[in-house]
Amino acid sequence: MNNRSIHSIIPPPQPHFVGDGFRVHNFFPSHVQGGMIKTDPFLLLDYGSPHYFEPSHHQRGVDVHPHRGFETVTFAFKGSVAHKDSSGGGGIIGEGDIQWMTAGSGVLHEEFHTEEFAKTGGEFHMAQLWVNLPAKDKMTKPKYQAIKNESIPRYESADCQVEIVAGSHRGIKGIASTFTPIDMLLITLNKGAIFEHACPSSYTAIAVNIKGNAIMGNQAFPEHHCAIFANDGEALQIEAREDSRFLLLAGEPIRESIVAAGPFVMNTREEIMQAFEDYSTGAFGAL
Ligand code: MN
Repeated sequence: MNNRSIHSIIPPPQPHFVGDGFRVHNFFPSHVQGGMIKTDPFLLLDYGSPHYFEPSHHQRGVDVHPHRGFETVTFAFKGSVAHKDSSGGGGIIGEGDIQWMTAGSGVLHEEFHTEEFAKTGGEFHMAQLWVNLPAKDKMTKPKYQAIKNESIPRYESADCQVEIVAGSHRGIKGIASTFTPIDMLLITLNKGAIFEHACPSSYTAIAVNIKGNAIMGNQAFPEHHCAIFANDGEALQIEAREDSRFLLLAGEPIRESIVAAGPFVMNTREEIMQAFEDYSTGAFGAL
């Protein structure tokens, strides 16, 4: 197996606030596209590097908004997120947990710091990924996969622990179901460990360094940076220079047209106009 080379290593872009609760670096689409790099099937990655929030009586976050045509995957590395949606669902994404929401034909939801986190304040460290749906599944029924940390299958060796969220790693299957082939791993390495994951060279592969410094090929992969692998091999490799942690995404490109407008991601302009119309006439329900 050939190790893939690194296409680019992206430093964390200037952060911005989503609502008043999520201070994020947008790694893509705003910082890698312009036609040069395709992140397909991943549409957007907002990474919230550790940020301290003062205790507050007010729960910071994002008020009611819609989504259609894709999935959101929310990771709470530190701190916790409370959510509520128009289908009557709701819950808490606790530390180490993941919420995989299929917006499909449409949801309205809100995302806030939990009441408890707001009260105590503290460090918040999170990420939200948008995963595209193929045309045939864009209008699928909305659903949630509430993934508790302790339910995530793990591969362990002396210097490495891998949480297999989706897809598979070394024959161990992940817990989340996906509409297209995706490997999603959370990797914890001891200093000096070399991690390797095999997947087809055609897959888009992206790593986020959540903690610690690492090396990829002969390039430095510093903390809170995002790395995009080139499509020139079958193995993804990360070498830990200190105790470290990574999010690894590898997915088969969907290769369909994308028309995106705010919270809607469809295949055509007509479908986007339909989404706005359905939203304005109340077809997404109420919250
Ligand atoms: Mn949302």
